Amino acid sequence: MERRKFLQRAAALTAAGAATATGTASAADAEKIVWKLPTSFPAKAPGVGTNVTSFARRVEEMSGGRLSFKIYSSGELVPPFAVEDAVQKGTVEIGHTTPYYAAGKNPALHFFSTVPFGMNATEQVAWLRHGGGQKLWDEVNAERGIKSFYSGNSGTQSAGWFKKEITSVKDLSGLNMRIAGLGGEAMRKLGVNAILLPPPEIFPSFKSGAIDAAEWVGPLLDQAFGLNKVANICYVPAFHEPGAALCISVNLEAWNSLPEDLQHIVEEAALATSVETLAQFDYFNVQAFTQLKEQGVDFKVFPDDVVTALKQASKEVIDDLAKDNEQFKKVYDSYQAFLAPATEYANVFGAEVFRQRS
Ligand code: CA
Repeated sequence: MERRKFLQRAAALTAAGAATATGTASAADAEKIVWKLPTSFPAKAPGVGTNVTSFARRVEEMSGGRLSFKIYSSGELVPPFAVEDAVQKGTVEIGHTTPYYAAGKNPALHFFSTVPFGMNATEQVAWLRHGGGQKLWDEVNAERGIKSFYSGNSGTQSAGWFKKEITSVKDLSGLNMRIAGLGGEAMRKLGVNAILLPPPEIFPSFKSGAIDAAEWVGPLLDQAFGLNKVANICYVPAFHEPGAALCISVNLEAWNSLPEDLQHIVEEAALATSVETLAQFDYFNVQAFTQLKEQGVDFKVFPDDVVTALKQASKEVIDDLAKDNEQFKKVYDSYQAFLAPATEYANVFGAEVFRQRS
């Protein structure tokens, strides 16, 4: 652009800006929307906490402050597992959680978090965006007056921290274990007393001996929460959480009241944050894993008979739910329709295994 034209344009923009600033300042203020945003997770924690604070920052910046959020950490405003209940009731307009924390309302929600022996993080997004997953999630949520957006993923988690080695299925019997998702139901079939404690209660319960074993997320968060200070054996990878998703859930009425451009901003902010969060987990899990190994943590894989038993038990849990629940079966069928060929594909295209070949 020529310098003269540039200066003319700059002058015009400044004049327009000044007119907006003086003439319509109060109207602009009146349009500012502030929503309550409780999260199921400690807001200051890396990964799960950064996910919500980054999302909120992006929306505020992209909207020029027209939409912002008051974030409430885990349990501060609503119980950690009741975030979507509060969104549904309209007590809050928006919330941050993982879908299966509301699985008591509808077990089909498990598929939008993670299921045992299911998809990894990238496969999950592929299914949501191209395999019909988001449409099914919208269907499930519409009944509750909610709309949810995928906002991130932990990547593959750990199966859990144990005080004693698991040498066979019988070693699991009678253990009190904190474990999330359908993996908890599978563990129950093998004699484990599976408990789903909210995130802030995991470390104190593990330390006090109220529970014998605990799974939380993976090296980054397990180290941040101090699980390695209680036990020295960590079983990996998580049979039950190959890639657990985080989400932003919005009350449908509140959603419909938003101007279209702010709706786009919320949607795009969740998507951008999802990339950042998976990168954060992928990078810092590696750092934490290396540190934990150096500190003498024993990373182990369950023996074959335990894995086989967990796989069988997981299948029974899912088949039982599909038998009694048409919607669960519909989501399961869609999930499997991508998971089966994706598994064949990963067997051939799996770069991680290939690069270790000599
Ligand atoms: Ca977990």
